[in-house]
Amino acid sequence: MSILVVGSVALDTVETPFNRVEEVLGGAASFFSTAASLYNQVNLVAVVGSDFPQEFLDFWRSRPINLDGLQICEGRTFRWTARYHMDMNARDTLDTQLGVYAGFHPVLPPAYLESDLLFLANIQPELQMEVLHAAPHARLTVLDTMELWIMTAREQLTEVMKRVDVLLMSEEEVRQYTERASILAGVRDLFTLGLKYVIVKQGSYGALLFGKDGTYFSAPTYPLEEVIDPTGAGDAFAGGFLGYLSTVAPQADGRYAVADLKRAVVHGNLIGSFTCEDFSIARLRTLTLADVAERYRRLVEYSHFDNGWPASAQ
Ligand code: AMP
Repeated sequence: MSILVVGSVALDTVETPFNRVEEVLGGAASFFSTAASLYNQVNLVAVVGSDFPQEFLDFWRSRPINLDGLQICEGRTFRWTARYHMDMNARDTLDTQLGVYAGFHPVLPPAYLESDLLFLANIQPELQMEVLHAAPHARLTVLDTMELWIMTAREQLTEVMKRVDVLLMSEEEVRQYTERASILAGVRDLFTLGLKYVIVKQGSYGALLFGKDGTYFSAPTYPLEEVIDPTGAGDAFAGGFLGYLSTVAPQADGRYAVADLKRAVVHGNLIGSFTCEDFSIARLRTLTLADVAERYRRLVEYSHFDNGWPASAQ
């Protein structure tokens, strides 16, 4: 079982109200690969510049991450600069420099074509489309994006949305894309594109799973006393979501059971919560599935309520 991902690999400069880090490892595909490789083999498609630190490549080689599809090109690695507000669910992007992504075209090594699950992480929609065409056999395709592409490449993004099974969007992105104030109304619009599931990420408040078939699930998030840096939590969420799904078999009809999709969303939330505990991928580097299992158990306890309705209230 393996998971193919295309997305950004970046050097991030991040400022929170309490701290600042410069040119640390970032990028959607970086967080995703590090998270998903806890569960299964990841096949990474991305590009970095000649300035990309060797140390990060060495770390990924120590994990089940295939780097044959990672191109190293003359030029500068993608760079992203952002500043968080006191409410760390909100941030401003101060600068985005595509660098070597500007002229990049993904090339999929033959071994990648066998990938079972496909994640189109945040990057230009036309690159996402190229990978979608190059890997037509994936049993589940999942798409993520960002405000920049909603604003500057809406048409191309819409074409990709029409061809995938699952869309991940933050609450704010659903509003931006659909121009609906209500998330439920926005999600209903998104389903007209042909998507089977939409997952709405709500930052520190959890995530909502919507199915075209009427499925609805609200997954709580793990309460953290201190958030150091939420960057990459959404990408790590996708890593937990697809990572978990890569460990279960779909049903006879080829679809995943709703119970597994719900568990996958919870794994996503948990991996996202760990990501927030440090800058860059620092917490994910040391994370184990035993740590995830412990938080999973506690989250069940925190959010479960039974259906006992008091007789006196009838
Ligand atoms: P998240 O916090 O999950 O939204 O992901 C943030 C990560 O996405 C950062 O590490 C950035 O390097 C990367 N990123 C930011 N903007 C873009 C963009 N427009 N395209 C691709 N990746 C981006």
